[in-house]
Amino acid sequence: MSNIFDTHCHLQFPHYDLDREEVIRRGVPLICAGTDIKTSKQAIELAKHPGVWAAVGAHPNDLDDLVMDDFIHLMNEEKVVAVGEVGLDYYRTKGDDKQKKQRDAFEQFINLAYQYKKPLVLHCRDAHKDAIKILKSAKDLLYGGVAHSFTGTLEEAREYLSIGFYLGFNGIITFARQYDEIIVHTSLEKILLETDAPYLTPEPYRGKRNEPAYVLEVAKKIAELKHIPTEKVINITTQNVLSLFKIVLKDV
Ligand SMILES: [Zn+2]
Repeated sequence: MSNIFDTHCHLQFPHYDLDREEVIRRGVPLICAGTDIKTSKQAIELAKHPGVWAAVGAHPNDLDDLVMDDFIHLMNEEKVVAVGEVGLDYYRTKGDDKQKKQRDAFEQFINLAYQYKKPLVLHCRDAHKDAIKILKSAKDLLYGGVAHSFTGTLEEAREYLSIGFYLGFNGIITFARQYDEIIVHTSLEKILLETDAPYLTPEPYRGKRNEPAYVLEVAKKIAELKHIPTEKVINITTQNVLSLFKIVLKDV
């Protein structure tokens, strides 16, 4: 199980202020995702640990103080492997003006990722139609990406796959059944494992704070749904991580 990878978590959040080092030590290789300029810088700081990489971006619900130039300064940091999480969230943000602002910011982050040849870590909730439209019109600018915490339909899943995106699954699939069919129909070569810790804790740990080590439960669930060994899920999804994010697992 040594090479399982958590492609999306937030260990810089205050939930880990008391035991962050221990969580990293008992965890697995991971990508720490920023949600604004502050948490992006903190992700880069955490990436000084072996086995930790960073994604930098601003969450669509967190755009009030967005200054794009601030992010440009972070892009050349050694262990920044992606732009994210960025995208659209019409579930928590209502109103045409604000949703338009999300689309504008998303397009700017797509350009940033293009300039630095990085993949995108997409956060999208209740806005897949617009996200897919924007991504398709920018398809020449993309260096791949992942629809993180994928909660769309099978149809939407196919749209992401058609533009070369991966689907990221987390603890949700251990306690909600509506994604089973999508997982069964999605090739393992297009799936990434994640926790989204501290949120979305998988079974059998629900109710506790989530952490990267629990990503194993996500792998087990996918193995069960696809009737294949967990080891195979881990091996292939970790290959996916290395090829999408251009990560070399030498110092882990
Ligand atoms: Zn997240």
